[in-house]
Amino acid sequence: MVVKVAINGYGTIGKRVADAVTKQDDMEIVGVTKTRPTIEADLAIQKGYPLYAVAEEHEQGFLDAGIPITRGTLLALLQKADIVIDGSPGKKGAANKPIYEKAGVKAIWQGGEKDSLVETSFNALTNYNKAWGKRFVRVVSCNTTGLARTLYPVQQKFGIKAAYVTMVRRGADPRESKKGPINAITPVLKVPSHHGPDAQTVIDGLNIFSLAVAVPTTIMHLHCNTVELEDKNATTEDVLALWDATPRIKFVEGGKGIVSTAQVMELARDLNRERADFNEIIVWKDAVTVQDGVLYYYQAIHQESDVVPENIDCIRAMCELEPDNMKSIEKTNRALGIE
Ligand code: NAD
Repeated sequence: MVVKVAINGYGTIGKRVADAVTKQDDMEIVGVTKTRPTIEADLAIQKGYPLYAVAEEHEQGFLDAGIPITRGTLLALLQKADIVIDGSPGKKGAANKPIYEKAGVKAIWQGGEKDSLVETSFNALTNYNKAWGKRFVRVVSCNTTGLARTLYPVQQKFGIKAAYVTMVRRGADPRESKKGPINAITPVLKVPSHHGPDAQTVIDGLNIFSLAVAVPTTIMHLHCNTVELEDKNATTEDVLALWDATPRIKFVEGGKGIVSTAQVMELARDLNRERADFNEIIVWKDAVTVQDGVLYYYQAIHQESDVVPENIDCIRAMCELEPDNMKSIEKTNRALGIE
């Protein structure tokens, strides 16, 4: 079976998920939507993705720009799809739910929407089975995905008494030239930040407390994490071996010159990663330390791309293509060149 996938909102996340779907052998893109005739609309056509306007009010803009939207709107696209990836801007996607319900399609939202919108939130490693056959699911945010990938295996193997995590967040995505902070460090004054509670939507029983600050960088988020372990005998080497065997975690080393997110992004370019993305969570191996039953580590999150393989696995679970989460993760990773 080849699942027919629509992308509603061909932006930062939507365009990456579209390309990732195209690389799988069990799903295909039947069309993408845009609101405005930007360069991304041109590029979608060049890639061969059938282009639709989100709504009738957007159609004229494409025609005026000479971009041939001959295929109608989202409503026409949904008739061709089994499942839609909602890549609309955060907090806007919820309004699309009645449209998907009426069209009879399954839908996946992103981390900008609330857990209460869907039947379950999703991470491929932690709760794949909960999305099995479901109609409405949310792939958790880039930060929550990062927390899930490193904390879940630690919880399973050593037990977690409590995790205290601090998110140092990029102020904007690289292309968002109008956003900031420009010259400030902005603490999130709602304590705990939403990230800890969000991680609890995909990891049962996780005791976690989170703080967050936004800083003037566009390239990655960085997490500073302190984790009290149940197993007082766990060692640094044990944790390193565990993460080494966990998919979608990549070690880097300060000793080899990777001392900041800048060199991490340079590595993505040197490895010829598409768009210079890093779908893996980056963990600084030299800094991982277990002392007196407490684990300390730093991890970096490439915000625009870590959730992309999660969307692919989520499609597989919701459309009942592969019952085993590790097999789906491996299949997705192979197709996308992820470690
Ligand atoms: P974006 O602004 O880059 O792209 C959004 C796209 O949706 C644009 O193409 C826009 O034209 C289109 N759009 C606008 N209104 C729409 C509507 N009503 N219906 C359908 N499409 C509409 O946004 P993004 O960064 O890709 O974010 C999408 C979702 O992914 C959000 O929930 C966000 O929180 C989440 N997310 C973003 C990042 C990130 O770093 N950018 C990381 C993880 C998750």
